Amino acid sequence: MISARTSTESASKDRSAFRRCFYPDVSAREWNDWRWQLRNRIRDLEGLERIFPLTDDERAAVLRRQGALPVGFTPYYASLISRDDPADPIRKTMIPVQAEFVRSSGEMDDPLGEDPRSPVPGLVHTYPDKVLFLVTDFCATYCRYCTRSRLVGAGEYLPDRALWEQALAYIREHREVRDVLLSGGDPLILSDERLEWLLARLHEIPHVEFLRIGTKIPAVMPQRITAGLVKMLKKYHPLFFSIHFTHPAELTPETARACARLADAGIPLGSQTVLLAGVNDHPAVMKALMLGLLKMRVKPYYLHQCDAVAGSAHFRTPISTGKDIIRSLHGFTTGYAVPTYMLDAPGGGGKVPLSPDYIEGREGDTVLVRNHEGSKYRYVDGGENV
Ligand code: SF4
Repeated sequence: MISARTSTESASKDRSAFRRCFYPDVSAREWNDWRWQLRNRIRDLEGLERIFPLTDDERAAVLRRQGALPVGFTPYYASLISRDDPADPIRKTMIPVQAEFVRSSGEMDDPLGEDPRSPVPGLVHTYPDKVLFLVTDFCATYCRYCTRSRLVGAGEYLPDRALWEQALAYIREHREVRDVLLSGGDPLILSDERLEWLLARLHEIPHVEFLRIGTKIPAVMPQRITAGLVKMLKKYHPLFFSIHFTHPAELTPETARACARLADAGIPLGSQTVLLAGVNDHPAVMKALMLGLLKMRVKPYYLHQCDAVAGSAHFRTPISTGKDIIRSLHGFTTGYAVPTYMLDAPGGGGKVPLSPDYIEGREGDTVLVRNHEGSKYRYVDGGENV
């Protein structure tokens, strides 16, 4: 069963009506101010129950939740969630349930083994030429399946520059680093001034060839993508964005405007989507998301197998589900809409592509392949092994 809404339905959602109903004293101007959105995030039982009739399971989970990965999401994102349907796909990613407290076999607090690969606080040296710079633990919304649930939201710190200087010094000393991915937390939580301070210092390091920002903000708080922000960002090319999208319901006119602003500033946009049970694990939902992203000039980049972070079993699908989704896309729609399906190998093994296999075997110098429709073809290949 498809428990997910389509992008068309989400686009018809009336954010103004939501605002007038639940925030009657808030003007459209305030609502469209990202700082208002951030200050007024829904963060506790009272805030949730003011809008959502919670299930017993949700209420118990909210009361039990402590420490990192707090509950938190913007009023804007709340307006995309069904009030009456606990199976609403975005709701599942934002409002905890008690399954979150169950640690299943193979699950870890640090599933990607990032902590041992952190030479200085806030920096993970992931590949020989790439570092991950965790610039804050602060997010606009806290996703219940977050790989960094051990860290995010713990103190909602905006690090002082002395801490960032340690990471910058490491990058300056390591001339093999060509790619710096700013993540966290969400780097776009930083003010324009703080973010520019960081980008300017990274940009002046000669061996850093390009910068990336990993963010969920265009989907959950698109008001943050202001004209002033993009004017600043475009000074630091080549700068890429990896945007975390989950479901076609996120593809609102507000998010389209945010992506258009970024794309118009010459920033290449790629999407990252985590495959989540009961949220987006259906071919029709994933196709709507990927095609909708393309229309917003966001290239579907990665579909991630959900990491085995503690308490995530209720979100994880078998790998066969992801392969079936990729099969449902490949050959049936434009190749631009097909992301690469990827598993982050537990413990720091890096990314492993999980492509469906279309090669059936080999006969001498001939390779047998099966296409997306199931038809077999023979290809004379020069190599000995495939
Ligand atoms: S926005 Fe990213 S870092 Fe923040 S909670 Fe969600 S997945 Fe984790």
